[in-house]
Amino acid sequence: MPRLVLATRNPHKAEEFAELLAPWTVGALPDSVDLPAETGTTFAENAMGKARAAAAATGSAAFGDDSGIEADALDGAPGVRSARFAGEDATDAENLALFRSRVPAGSAVAYVCAIAYVDPATGTEHRVEGRCTGTMAPEPRGDGGFGYDPVFLPDDVEVAAGRTMAELAPAEKAAISHRGAAARELLALLTAAAR
Ligand code: IMP
Repeated sequence: MPRLVLATRNPHKAEEFAELLAPWTVGALPDSVDLPAETGTTFAENAMGKARAAAAATGSAAFGDDSGIEADALDGAPGVRSARFAGEDATDAENLALFRSRVPAGSAVAYVCAIAYVDPATGTEHRVEGRCTGTMAPEPRGDGGFGYDPVFLPDDVEVAAGRTMAELAPAEKAAISHRGAAARELLALLTAAAR
């Protein structure tokens, strides 16, 4: 199947996308490629900046994503700043600790993922977005996933059944996650175009 370059340096995302976009092959971004800073005000804008940069540098079809968590209690923050919520070089653990100190248990949260796709050979560009709603868990639980997963209780009852995102197997997370929803939408567009 055709190969797509993924414009990310995040190994967790690379793993999740490789599974989600099969049978398309997801290739790593060469070390020499510089990705633009995430300075956009929307997930879609940041995703497109990364996809265009990767496509221009490699000459291959490429996709980029931007994702984050929105908390009702914080009027939608941290949103596009989710990776830098506790500071420019904050770790996942630092971001999670600050999030726990500001967001009350039981309040509404949502994960958002935008994916942008660019094929420099045809000039094709696609934009898709997925959302996953949930509530803030009273205590962090689970070792799977990454980022805010230990405190994210998906609204979904059939798959998650009261477990946090970090307690789900990768395939379960993919079935209900924002990244899964956006990736399935992109896969449908690519498959339709390949016919
Ligand atoms: P970015 O898309 O690389 O800007 O990073 C998004 C940030 O949002 C990550 O560093 C995480 O903090 C958070 N995030 C996005 N998706 C997820 C997820 O599936 N689980 C947990 N945290 C996530």
